[in-house]
Amino acid sequence: MQQTKVPFGHYKVPEAKEDSYITGLKLANSLKGSELIPFIPINGRQVNFYYCGPTVYSNSHLGHARTYLGIDVIRRTLRDYFHYDLLSVMNITDIDDKIITGANVAKQDFLEFTKIWEKDFFDAMEALNIELPDVITRVSDYVPEIVTFIQKIISNGYAYESNGSVYFDVQKYIADGHTYPKMRPEVNAELLQEGEGESQLNKQSEKKSPYDFALWKASKPEEPKWQSPWGEGRPGWHIECSVMASAILGNPIDLHAGGIDLLFPHHDNSLAQAEACFNCEQWINYFIHLGHLNIADRKMSKSLKNFMTIEEVLKRYTPRQVRLNFAIHQYDAPQNYSEEQMEQAIAKDKSYQEFFQNTKIYLRESQVTDAQKWTENDFQLSALLRSTKQIIHQALINNFDFPTVVDATDKLINQVNIQIASKNVRAPLINSVVNYVNFIFGLLGINYQTLLTNQIDIQPLMEQVCQIRDKVKMAAKNNDFESIINAVTQKQIQYEKNISNYLVDAINQFQQEVLIASQNKNKQQIFQICDKLRDQQLFDLGIKIEDKDQSSIWKQYDIQELKLEKLQQQILLQQKEQQRKKEEQEKLEKAKLSPKEFFSQQTDKYLEFDESGLPIKDKDGNELSKKQKKVVQELWEKQNKLYTQYLEQQKQQQ
Ligand SMILES: [Zn+2]
Repeated sequence: MQQTKVPFGHYKVPEAKEDSYITGLKLANSLKGSELIPFIPINGRQVNFYYCGPTVYSNSHLGHARTYLGIDVIRRTLRDYFHYDLLSVMNITDIDDKIITGANVAKQDFLEFTKIWEKDFFDAMEALNIELPDVITRVSDYVPEIVTFIQKIISNGYAYESNGSVYFDVQKYIADGHTYPKMRPEVNAELLQEGEGESQLNKQSEKKSPYDFALWKASKPEEPKWQSPWGEGRPGWHIECSVMASAILGNPIDLHAGGIDLLFPHHDNSLAQAEACFNCEQWINYFIHLGHLNIADRKMSKSLKNFMTIEEVLKRYTPRQVRLNFAIHQYDAPQNYSEEQMEQAIAKDKSYQEFFQNTKIYLRESQVTDAQKWTENDFQLSALLRSTKQIIHQALINNFDFPTVVDATDKLINQVNIQIASKNVRAPLINSVVNYVNFIFGLLGINYQTLLTNQIDIQPLMEQVCQIRDKVKMAAKNNDFESIINAVTQKQIQYEKNISNYLVDAINQFQQEVLIASQNKNKQQIFQICDKLRDQQLFDLGIKIEDKDQSSIWKQYDIQELKLEKLQQQILLQQKEQQRKKEEQEKLEKAKLSPKEFFSQQTDKYLEFDESGLPIKDKDGNELSKKQKKVVQELWEKQNKLYTQYLEQQKQQQ
């Protein structure tokens, strides 16, 4: 096959017009070999966006999480940061070989079968707080449009019917000056054949050339089928995206996205089909690809037992932690998923939660009527906020560089933490920083603010509880039992009707127990009751009390998340314990060897030994140098010490 065009030769950067809305955003465009290209939508602020949805035949897994979380963040950023007017379309592939096989195995009608897995997919997306596209297109709803589209390609001369199926005529397409495959100009004949994939060998005789791919497949008996001018059959996989994307968004389309594993043949074939149908040069202006995901350094697959469903992952981690894990990696770079990485995401999540909690308390305790004159601290923090905004803007226009965004946000947060600890910074400025950080997290689909405000307002109640508990502790220190009795009896705690009974019960129980203990003048017991309220009763309700010198503050958390946090800590402890035991066992195994045995096993390093087992020649038969002799002598003595200890232990045990 002859490639007549220069690689990527056909790509044209869309021209800027008078009404073009240009933000400076540049995208890694697969149509230009990942080169960063200025993003210029066709119509002002409007951006038409199509992305490939799932083939629904099995559980949604981590690979889906990476792709659709990535697209979700891109959509939020285009809309909320750059203020584009987005119309996004995602397809559902509900006709496919894997689906037909799966439905046969499950003895279900194929549409019944796909509905189950489609629901599983959307449930997983919802659990991860991934927004729905504006338009969802199912292949089974678009078969008539697919037939018309194929007829157009045939009449344009780029497809032919053969034995009830229709194939794309790759040779003719190239001969007329088109580039194929557009995004893989280096592709060789072998890959092209591979691209056609399924059962291509026995279809070979139907095709003019091995590179041709199916637009329409004649149905075998027992397969779902639709009427067509070529007899009963069903659409090929690639044709669906060409048809459904243009059915809603037309031609040309601004932006198309999908996982990198779809680039060839799926996306290249989608492009060729649409451009053959519309007789145009550039159906898609920007094609972006989400990077590949490995699990613990290996490709995810059911046979390797590292296949992780989203449901399983969310039993162990919160959606925020999962989102953060993907956000700290560049969307179009390969990523490896591991437990260590999730630990990093957990640590980040925790520090962000604390940031929002601590600033909330700072703002709660400040008044607008406080002194507002700026000090050096305020000037510094304000300058940092501004430079952070600049860094983040540069990162976002640079192909959505979120790792840099997260990094810059971390630095800002650290500085705020220092400033509010010193308590010498004005609250309105802290408020501005909090709003900005909250906005940036919003692009990542993460909201810590609602986590704080969606809860029932327990502020008036908790302030009273902290005050009483502080008073009790202070009076107990001074052995002033009368004041304690006053504190827990005279003041009736006020609370709203919708406050949970558990919280009210916990506080009543606290007061009762303190009363009895102070009547008995039992100071130690009073302290224990105060600790129990903090560590057990309130903690179990998602409320944490932090004791400071004279007073205490309280923070509220999501109870389910606190439980998950406990579980994560338990798992970590277990893993550490297992590791410790393993190392101990290895140490023991090593100590069992006499120095002579220890060296004699190392035949890959040494050839000859003296009578005490000390090596004298290396594996090539050369005498050891002075320096090497010193090293083996030290090793010998170390092993001898271990071995002697081991023998003594054995003796003692007998
Ligand atoms: Zn697609």
